[in-house]
Amino acid sequence: APSEGSVGIAIVGLGGYALRQIMPAFAGAKHVHIAGLVSGNREKAEEVAAAYGLEDDQIYGYDNYADIAGDDRIDAVYIILPTGLHEKYTVDAFTAGKHVLCEKPMAMDPGECERMIAAGKRAGRRLMIGYRCHFEPFNLKAMEITKGGGLGPLRLIQTQHQYSVGEGVTPQNNWRFNRALAGGGPLEDYGIYGVQAALYLSGEMPTRISATQMLMPDDPRFTEIVPFIASQFTFPSGAAAQLTTGYNVDGLNRVDAWGSRHTLKMNRATAYSGQEMQLTGSGKDESLNPGDPSVQFAQMMDHFGQAVRDGSPILTGGEMGLRDTRLIEAIYRSADRERPVGI
Ligand code: NDP
Repeated sequence: APSEGSVGIAIVGLGGYALRQIMPAFAGAKHVHIAGLVSGNREKAEEVAAAYGLEDDQIYGYDNYADIAGDDRIDAVYIILPTGLHEKYTVDAFTAGKHVLCEKPMAMDPGECERMIAAGKRAGRRLMIGYRCHFEPFNLKAMEITKGGGLGPLRLIQTQHQYSVGEGVTPQNNWRFNRALAGGGPLEDYGIYGVQAALYLSGEMPTRISATQMLMPDDPRFTEIVPFIASQFTFPSGAAAQLTTGYNVDGLNRVDAWGSRHTLKMNRATAYSGQEMQLTGSGKDESLNPGDPSVQFAQMMDHFGQAVRDGSPILTGGEMGLRDTRLIEAIYRSADRERPVGI
């Protein structure tokens, strides 16, 4: 049950992630509750409202979204729309005086991210990106180990984020394959977890990026997006990261980190659940089980709720989303030019 002062959140976009992961996770949250729904599908929204004990007057469409300004039950919105719509619905929420939790990837390009950050500042409202791994026990443990020097000096991070997609999807029938709504492709959608892990495990920013892409323009699924891309980051410490992402191989969700003494292997690494973690090398061979991964959704939303209520710092704010969007742009630039780029 929400505590006193719990922050009321309107869910914007009732798609797969909102309905299957986020809305059920509110049951485990203390500082936030669902206070509204924004959807283009009234019938679906009425069913969802009934299931969550919301009144019909808590449902909005995209056409009357601005009216949330006058709804005191709604303190904030959670944007769970296709990426190409994040900027507009974030800026409009700030104009309506609401705080914003926005899904990853933050937006289509750094310019959009900058406009979202500026709109939040102008409105005096908070902006957080839904980077759930910062609230997930296995990834938190991995950060503690790598940043605490637990592997010895870090040498290499490898990340793999891939899944295969069946026949029949097209840029017209699925937004993830549509450049105007998804950007370049699986890099923004899934590979962003590798970009994130490379940075939060190393604690560094790359100085150089080198990337190669595979295009498949004759495949009707991949006429608009880059279906596979691999990149290498060079860090100032001398460590490197190698990241692969694509819609070409099924079920790859791995992050491995090699230090001079020990190796940390995470497989599934950044998933909703089913995480496993192994610490090996120099006589060590341990399985670590730091907690239940499924708490990540509620913990993330509670972090946002507390920030809105108390003005406390946000761990995964708009600046982090902007940073990652710039790195993604650099990865594509390197792949397009077929040479390394400095950061
Ligand atoms: P879905 O396609 O399942 O849902 C998107 C929803 O957005 C639709 O159901 C629809 O809701 C609404 N929408 C509004 N305009 C459009 C449009 N033009 N095309 C398609 N949908 C539209 O996507 P997901 O739920 O998988 O992804 C949504 C967001 O969540 C993305 O930013 C994605 O990156 C992020 N995500 C994050 C995950 C994580 O682990 N952090 C996991 C999965 C997704 P309605 O019918 O109510 O209007």
